[in-house]
Amino acid sequence: AAAPLGNSVIPIVNKLQDIFSQLGSSSTIELPQVAVVGSQSSGKSSVLEALVGRDFLPRGSDICTRRPLVLQLLQTKRKADGTEEEYGEFLHLPGKRFYNFNDIRNEIQAETEREAGGNKGVSDKQIRLKIFSPNVLDITLVDLPGITKVPVGDQPSDIEARIRTMIMSYIKLPSCLILAVTPANSDLANSDALQIAGNADPDGYRTIGIITKLDIMDRGTDARNFLLGKVIPLRLGYVGVVNRSQEDIMLNRTIKDALVAEEKFFRSRPVYSDLADRCGIPQLAKKLNQILVQHIKTVLPGLKSRISAALVSVAKEHASYGEITESKAGQGALLLNILSKYSEAFSSMIEGKNGEMSTT
Ligand code: GDP
Ligand code: MG
Repeated sequence: AAAPLGNSVIPIVNKLQDIFSQLGSSSTIELPQVAVVGSQSSGKSSVLEALVGRDFLPRGSDICTRRPLVLQLLQTKRKADGTEEEYGEFLHLPGKRFYNFNDIRNEIQAETEREAGGNKGVSDKQIRLKIFSPNVLDITLVDLPGITKVPVGDQPSDIEARIRTMIMSYIKLPSCLILAVTPANSDLANSDALQIAGNADPDGYRTIGIITKLDIMDRGTDARNFLLGKVIPLRLGYVGVVNRSQEDIMLNRTIKDALVAEEKFFRSRPVYSDLADRCGIPQLAKKLNQILVQHIKTVLPGLKSRISAALVSVAKEHASYGEITESKAGQGALLLNILSKYSEAFSSMIEGKNGEMSTT
């Protein structure tokens, strides 16, 4: 099954990539990087994993993510016989393919210890992992250590400042989408995630609020006002999710089961029934997809003008030979036409007329 992230963007990006390769142009669509921020154990790694749809990140109630993990998803072609091949490869182990995702998790843990030691130490040295799969879109996700206040184990006394500087170095980039993760069982108004995201993105153009752990809120409380943006307004809004608990992890519950349980959770809670568009991992994936499509729409005019310029110069070259024929110029015009139609389709898709778009 395809991962939730990219269900609607993959076909669009593929189509555009095809158009550009026919033109012999090196133009491609570069998608923004996505980073998760928040306090320790807020559920950042869990959210990333659910979006990718595979189990491979170290997660737990203790500090697990102790080095930035830069995760590059790379789309591969499905094999001719229809079978899928998915594997990971680390920068520090070139050429070694990991087909078993549990082995990937073990290697992340081992490599974390090699650099940051075995006693809760943190390092800003990246671990870089590529995942090759026919079910992903070409995008980079960054899993970051969480904000922590009190030094433990081998952590230096200025651990909080160090981690904040590390996080800022990723999320200050204007091309970085920020997933600001806050657990629902903490004081939402004091969210570390929203605070640091607000420093990097004061106008809130690239921050999505994520509320995790809706299942373990204090009895009699709910996250309605927060999801509605009544506590801390956020331009791109909030999504509430339920990830796997520590017990689920110990029992090896799969992501698929977790998504079913999450759906059931929201279905059985009347307080969330009118907020369906703000609840669940699939909604988060949808929101991200919409932002990516919006991004594609913004970069399209630039790509279009590059094609137009190429077209003009090809036509001139032909004219200098004294004959204007079919071939490249005609082909270029045709592709430009297709691309224009795509831009129009993007506009109507973004205005929400028809969530999905045909790629045939
Ligand atoms: P990170 O430190 O922010 O990356 O957090 P992790 O993803 O490692 O999760 C920390 C702990 O919280 C793990 O034990 C998870 O099982 C648990 N957890 C994460 N999200 C949820 C959730 O939505 N509900 C429950 N009950 N537990 C969660
Ligand atoms: Mg983590």
